[in-house]
Amino acid sequence: MSARTQKFLCGLENKTLAPYAVHAGALRGRRYPETPHPYRTEFQRDRDRILHSQAFRRLEYKTQVFLSTTGDHLRNRLTHTIEVAGIARTIARSLGLNEDLTEAIALAHDLGHTPFGHAGERALHSLMEGHGGFDHNLQAIRVVDLLEKKYPAYDGINLTWETRAGLIKHRSPLHPPVLDGAELAPAPCLEAQAADLADDLTYYGHDVDDGLDAGIITEDMLDGIAIWRMAAEETKSLGLKRGDGKFLTYTVRALINRMVGDAIETSAKLIDASGVKAPGDAPAKGMTLIAWSQEFQVLTSELRTFLYENLYFSQELNKLNQLSKDRMSFLFETFVKHPELAGSQVRRRMETDGIHRAVTDYIAGMTDVFAICEYHRLK
Ligand code: MG
Repeated sequence: MSARTQKFLCGLENKTLAPYAVHAGALRGRRYPETPHPYRTEFQRDRDRILHSQAFRRLEYKTQVFLSTTGDHLRNRLTHTIEVAGIARTIARSLGLNEDLTEAIALAHDLGHTPFGHAGERALHSLMEGHGGFDHNLQAIRVVDLLEKKYPAYDGINLTWETRAGLIKHRSPLHPPVLDGAELAPAPCLEAQAADLADDLTYYGHDVDDGLDAGIITEDMLDGIAIWRMAAEETKSLGLKRGDGKFLTYTVRALINRMVGDAIETSAKLIDASGVKAPGDAPAKGMTLIAWSQEFQVLTSELRTFLYENLYFSQELNKLNQLSKDRMSFLFETFVKHPELAGSQVRRRMETDGIHRAVTDYIAGMTDVFAICEYHRLK
């Protein structure tokens, strides 16, 4: 046999993907042009560049909800990311979207996250008030465009425009985000929409799991939540009873499966009804087509509110969040005053981007473990 070349794989995409999917053979391309790889499409290359980046490896020691390394079974940002990528691929494949692009966006979606989860992000945003603020989605672009160092001729990992644009989630029609000097369309491509919905449903599912595991939320509390009761009914129909060893783990599984199933079925109908024919159609018209049904929007928003009230802002986590905020503030103020105590990249970056942005890049890139060590070293 002869090996399947990049050209062959692009031809295969043209035959198998839906007309509204982004095709790897028809791209806006990279900031620094490169010759095609013999065996990988451009989005396969993007995915591999993300997997091989330092920022990706650091996700292992960054908080998802619970501080990194505090429990053997609790998610960190790396395991969260891998779960998102798996679910995003399922959604993409079932809708005829470009699975490689979806996977690349999903794998990169949290590369800009700070240590200490959302508490860390909120702290950094308020410390950066008056200096441009902080947003983890935009930070992911800085990571892949600037902060990763590997290629001799340029900074960053030179991803395709499509993957980079897919990382910018928030599209305000009044203030459209700009990439490479041009305004972005009012909605992301459908592949990015699939990665985004996969992110939400993945964390709803695994945060319930982790919250139960950590003992912060209980089954009794979840009994008040309609979507949990639906999933638990499914578990009961298989003969498992509350208190059985597999009851909770299977119910979490059923919960995720229902959210994925509804997303696929609803999105297929929305795509049909929309009349989109080309990959640029949905973005140009500002259409969100990867979505839950009305019923599941209500069900999942009840679950989301429950998680905010009982897990993310629970007393147990609030104490930790306050500690994280204090550590972030201390690190930020110390490095702004004494850039000589930070890494050499900060001193180089402060000349082009100013001291505040340079310190923010440095701190945002830290793992929980490194940030805590630095805090103790400098305190
Ligand atoms: Mg995420």
